[in-house]
Amino acid sequence: MFLADIRQRIDAACKNAARDPSTVTLVAVTKSRTAQDIAPFLAAGHIAFGENKVQEAQEKWPPLKEKYKTELHFIGHLQTNKCAAAVALFDVIQTVDREKLALELAREMEKQKRRLPCYIQVNTGEEEQKGGIAPQQAESFYRFCTEEVGLDIQGLMCIPPEEDIPDMHFALLHKIARTLNLKSLSMGMSSDFEIAIRYGASHVRIGNALFEKPRA
Ligand SMILES: *Cc1c(COP(=O)(O)O)cnc(C)c1O
Repeated sequence: MFLADIRQRIDAACKNAARDPSTVTLVAVTKSRTAQDIAPFLAAGHIAFGENKVQEAQEKWPPLKEKYKTELHFIGHLQTNKCAAAVALFDVIQTVDREKLALELAREMEKQKRRLPCYIQVNTGEEEQKGGIAPQQAESFYRFCTEEVGLDIQGLMCIPPEEDIPDMHFALLHKIARTLNLKSLSMGMSSDFEIAIRYGASHVRIGNALFEKPRA
C-alpha cells in the first residue's frame, strides 16, 4: 500500500499550487481489488473509496462498511436498473450524465429516503464512447437535475481522453464549475492527479498508484 506516499505527493502538489491540502480528498479506487487488498487502507483510517461497478461493490463493501467509517463514491457508468442498489450502497454518485438516470436516481433516493450528493459527469473530450454530458449542455443539464428533478448536485467529474494532455480538460471542468458555482471537482487519476490539483481538483481518484510500486 502506498497511501502515505500518495498523500505526500498530494500535499506537495497543494503546496506548489498554494492550496490548503485539506481541500483535496483522495478517493482510493478499489475496483478489481479484493477486501483483503482494501483492509490496510481501512485499518489506516482511510475513508473515501471509489468503485465503478455496482455488483462488484455489493459483493465486497457491505461487511466493510459495517465495520469502518467509509464514504463510497460511485465512479462508473450507472445503468438505470442498478439505481436502487447504487443508492442503497453508495454515499456519493459522481457520474450523473443523462436525464433518464437523473430521474431514476431521484426516484430511488426519495423511496429510500437517502438524498445523496451527486456530481455531473462532463465528457470534456466529447468522445462518443464515453459517458458524460457535452460541455455546452452542462448548464442546462444542471438546471434540469436541480430544478426539475431535485437532485443534490455538488460538483462535476471528468475523465479526459487518454491520448490528450489533460490540462485543457481540467481547465474546462474548472470553468464550468465556476459558472455553476459548484464546489466539488472530481478529476485526476494516478498519472495526472498533480496536474488536476493545479486546476482546482477537490477529489482525485487514484487506483494503480496506491497499489503498485512506481516504476523506476
Ligand atoms: C479506474 C478509475 C480511476 C483510477 O485510475 P488509475 O489510473 O488506476 O489511478 C479513476 N477514475 C475512474 C472513473 C476509473 O474508472
